[in-house]
Amino acid sequence: MKNIAILCSGGDVSGMNPAIKHFVEYTKKKGLTPFLIYDGYEGLIDNAIYQASYEDVAGVMIRGGTFIRSSRSKRFMSAEFRQKAKENLDAHNIDMLLVLGGDGSFRGLHIFYKEHGIKFCGIPSTIDNDINGTDYCLGVDTALNIIKTSIDAIRDTASSFRRAFVIETMGRDCGYLALVSHLTSGSELCLIPELKYDLNSYKEEFKKQIQNGRKYFIAIVSEGIKQDSQEIADWFENEIGMESRVSVLGHIQRGGNPSIYDRLMAYKFVNYAVDGLLRGKDESVICYTKSGFEYKSIDDVANHKKELDPELLSYLN
Ligand code: ADP
Repeated sequence: MKNIAILCSGGDVSGMNPAIKHFVEYTKKKGLTPFLIYDGYEGLIDNAIYQASYEDVAGVMIRGGTFIRSSRSKRFMSAEFRQKAKENLDAHNIDMLLVLGGDGSFRGLHIFYKEHGIKFCGIPSTIDNDINGTDYCLGVDTALNIIKTSIDAIRDTASSFRRAFVIETMGRDCGYLALVSHLTSGSELCLIPELKYDLNSYKEEFKKQIQNGRKYFIAIVSEGIKQDSQEIADWFENEIGMESRVSVLGHIQRGGNPSIYDRLMAYKFVNYAVDGLLRGKDESVICYTKSGFEYKSIDDVANHKKELDPELLSYLN
């Protein structure tokens, strides 16, 4: 019997629970013994490692977040604690690891592999969709759906009151969530860190639209832009002459019932990750691109900045 474990590291996303559930079921089907590691790399160091049963994952499919929890671990940055982590894995006879996380987590994992030979496959998981080498990260679709529901609700109140709403989405330095939400909600303005903008270039057009009967504006701005969302709202008040409000969506974008697409991607990512490890892919990240699923190296994934899809970007010009 081969022992294999899964953990979550860094920011949680909806889709982690479906991935953990499928991990348990798929590995058992493959004749492996699955283990769950609670609390990310912290749990790896503290030996929060437990053999998984079907009961552990019953009913988790519909829950956002991760029931085995995640963490950021300063201790995992030091060789001394990684040694402790290795001893814990040895005690359970585990030499294969699936990690749901971001590029930081994968970098740590790679160091761990080089030091101790624990084979791994990373599954890109972040709502920001900012991991290089993959077009899709687990959790993005659920986040986009939550943003969609929020924008639809805000549109109702914006139109009732003749207001401009500035809706701020997450994404750190990546404007993906804002851009896709803009394209799919028909908002009037989208500001993202990848594109320079001059608010005054919209002034004449927006004023003309008001004259022609426009009663509200929706602006979707990414948290990574240089200006504060309130400054954008002030511009609508002072330069366009429409009362304005800011709505920062914040962490609601991270949670919620995982979408069908995230559940399916969780399923496929896990299949590829487990199959890869069994076929001798000892240190990879499973990525999804236009050409399908591909195993990529840590260097491809974690050491290059992700560029926003030029096709999507071109729609903003
Ligand atoms: P993400 O995986 O979402 O990018 P972080 O960058 O916060 O999140 O990384 C998550 C965790 O991965 C860190 O808290 C740390 O435990 C581990 N990690 C990141 N970089 C390294 C590194 N260079 N060496 C060891 N561990 C690391």
